[in-house]
Amino acid sequence: MDIRIGYGWDSHAFKAGVPLKIGGLSIDHPEGLAGHSDGDVLLHAITDALLGAVSAGDIGSFFPPGDPRWKDANSAIFLNLAIEEIESAGYRIVNVDTTLVLNAPKIGPISNEMRERVAELLGIAPANVGIKAKTPEGLDANHVAQAHAVVLLERIEEPGDLQTMTAVMESQRQLEDVVRDLVSQVHGVPAKAPFDTEDIT
Ligand code: MG
Repeated sequence: MDIRIGYGWDSHAFKAGVPLKIGGLSIDHPEGLAGHSDGDVLLHAITDALLGAVSAGDIGSFFPPGDPRWKDANSAIFLNLAIEEIESAGYRIVNVDTTLVLNAPKIGPISNEMRERVAELLGIAPANVGIKAKTPEGLDANHVAQAHAVVLLERIEEPGDLQTMTAVMESQRQLEDVVRDLVSQVHGVPAKAPFDTEDIT
């Protein structure tokens, strides 16, 4: 199969006195997202979407919440591992689309900056990243941030194409050898002497 789709979701509660980080951006806000890591709800959802797209498990199977190594960890580490997983499975990212659900802060004014930061972390163009945000109307979730993410992957070019090119180059080399032998028979030039095929006139 040449394309794969992945979906991820995450949620974190807001907590006073914690720095707020969403999409790899530090955001000036009185509260941050509580979590074992830096609580970056958007990067966690994208990480799960990437892992899910290649059936590689989820963020918790790679980075157990109880592991002290990941205390306050930068979530870009999780994202990098997911990118390595999809690349070793033979895929690359086509595009990513996301929706944040939270009451505050307003994402609209910083969505472009967030899009560029997420694109940078994923190693793709900002035009291939969607950042959308909604308020949790009717969800009774005013003190929570949720993130949804979908990714589309495509297979990286097959190594078989390289093998075909090598075979073509090899057959050209064999053809040159045959021509060299024939010309040497006609002109009495030693068969293994250096020879430029452009001299055949
Ligand atoms: Mg999380």
